[in-house]
Amino acid sequence: MSKSKLIAGNWKMNASLEGSAALVRGVLDGLAQAQPACDVAMCAPAPYLAALQGWLAGQSAVQPGAQDVSAHASGAYTGEVSADMLRDFGVRYCIVGHSERRQYHGETDELVAAKTQRALAAGITPIVCVGETLAERDGGHTEEVVRRQLAAVIHVNGHCITEVVVAYEPVWAIGTGKTATPELAQQVHAALRAQLRAASDHADRIRLLYGGSMNAANAASLLSQPDIDGGLIGGASLKAADFLAIVAAAR
Ligand code: PEP
Repeated sequence: MSKSKLIAGNWKMNASLEGSAALVRGVLDGLAQAQPACDVAMCAPAPYLAALQGWLAGQSAVQPGAQDVSAHASGAYTGEVSADMLRDFGVRYCIVGHSERRQYHGETDELVAAKTQRALAAGITPIVCVGETLAERDGGHTEEVVRRQLAAVIHVNGHCITEVVVAYEPVWAIGTGKTATPELAQQVHAALRAQLRAASDHADRIRLLYGGSMNAANAASLLSQPDIDGGLIGGASLKAADFLAIVAAAR
């Protein structure tokens, strides 16, 4: 079954309000010249989501995204942002379980699964990140780690797993300039696909993104792999020209 690819930019905690406005303008101008053959999302820091909604109003080429969501519906959780709040600002995608959240904020597989569930309940498509550290790869544990991370999400979300986007992001490739080779990424994606097939009859429609130093030069070869259905882009999403080149490679 054919599905459109998804290219999602993860700005992380970068740029300013002014810089973000210019970035969005640059991307929208570029896409007005050449309509994307894929879905495109920009995942902004939470305080910029209201502005992002305004910048993206009246067009459909780029959808607004967030970088995290609370596992709780509402209540005394100072500093957290609920899925319903994200939806109030038009958010369509939300990154969940990014390795930086797992690494620096102690997010467990169970918490990531709960956040995924919250996003889905609010009608937001979660982009669930899985990936191994360098030590885990060197120890030969890559598939075991990503399968464990995905299993927690499948366990909690059941048949709704078909509404999820999964991003394979080897931790050693994020922001390092080291990219998994297309063959190596495809191998992990194939393992994830097999796991999803065991959980759902509709696993082939689930989009599996690759993330980790994807850029204008390597995007086409990664995106041509049979189980790579798009990219989650960090550094290269901060420059309109670079992001547009990756979008152009996704067909
Ligand atoms: C990311 O943060 O999800 C990511 C893939 O970053 P980068 O593209 O900079 O490696």
